[in-house]
Formats: sequence, C-alpha cells, structure tokens
Amino acid sequence: MNFHAQITNCQKCTELAATRTKIVLGEGAIPCDILFLGEAPGEMEDKTGKPFKGAAGQILRTYVHVAGISMSKCHILNILKCRPPNNRNPSEEEILNCRPFLLHQIKIVRPKVIVALGKYAQAFVLKQDPQTVRVLKNIGKVIDYEGTPAVLTFHPSYLSRNSQPEVEAAFKIHLATAKQLVKENS
Ligand code: URA
Repeated sequence: MNFHAQITNCQKCTELAATRTKIVLGEGAIPCDILFLGEAPGEMEDKTGKPFKGAAGQILRTYVHVAGISMSKCHILNILKCRPPNNRNPSEEEILNCRPFLLHQIKIVRPKVIVALGKYAQAFVLKQDPQTVRVLKNIGKVIDYEGTPAVLTFHPSYLSRNSQPEVEAAFKIHLATAKQLVKENS
C-alpha cells in the first residue's frame, strides 16, 4: 500500500477512525521554507480535510501574512491526522500511532525551518513527553531538530485565549526569527 492509501485507510486509533469525517494529511509546498507543526485537526479541519482552516488557522495565517512570510512557500502538518472527539487532547498512544506518518512527511517536505506550535509540537521536536514539556518556558527557543532549526512557540489558539500585547509581540518575534533562519539556510 502506498503512503497516501496507508494514511487514508488508517485504523490504528479505533476511536479516531470511527469518529473522523476526513483525514487531514497536511498541505503546502514541497520542499518548503517553513513547516508549521500543529496539534490535531479541529471541527473545520475534520470537515474540509485541510489543516488550520478554523479560528486558530485564521490567527496563524494573519500573523504569517503580517510577518511577510508567503504561505505558498510553507507547509502545514499536525501531530495527529484525525480529529480527537470534542477536540480533546491527543493521547500518548494516538501520538505514537501517527508518528511514522509525520516522520515520513517531514522527510518529504524537507523544511528549512520548523515552527513548533504549542505543547504537542514542542514535545515532538524536543523528543519529550507532552505531559512534562515546559511549554511556556520553552517559548522563543530555537533548537536543532535532526539538523533543522525549530522555533518553539505558542499554539495560535493560545493567542485567541490570551490577547495580551506581550503574547502577540512574542509570536511576531518568533515568526520573524523563523523568516530570518530561512534566509540563513537558503
Ligand atoms: N489546530 C491544530 O493544531 N491544527 C489544525 O489543523 C487546526 C487547529
């Protein structure tokens, strides 16, 4: 079975396979400048089969545009390809089940820079347990993920819940850092 068929027929997570409408593979340029790595599809993504199409996506896309980054050169992937019911947190088992797909996709999209959005993406690039990852302490750090710089930042939905100017300013700085790293890596 090819990669696409393997994902679209995936039944590894019984609950997610039974409740999903569409699998959200991800989308964007191949190869890409920036890979935005999110958590899991929400309601809109589950309906459309596309990543970051709901409220969090609107926030992300607005900030990316304001930062002068062209989404057409970027790629978006999530830790999970299926929506957890009621947007609950991904389980450890679900993350492990989906991991081989994500690893394969990252090899294909060959990002110059990764932007890890929120706890689950941070845990992935840091190779840490999401339950113990110090999300806020890590914010703004640039780490090496398998030879690719990864900027650790907020999940865009955090920005909608915390509209303090400091959070917004920090997110803008993280995107500017990612843009600069693309230049340095080009
Ligand atoms: N949140 C995510 O992390 N990913 C999406 O695709 C949508 C919302």
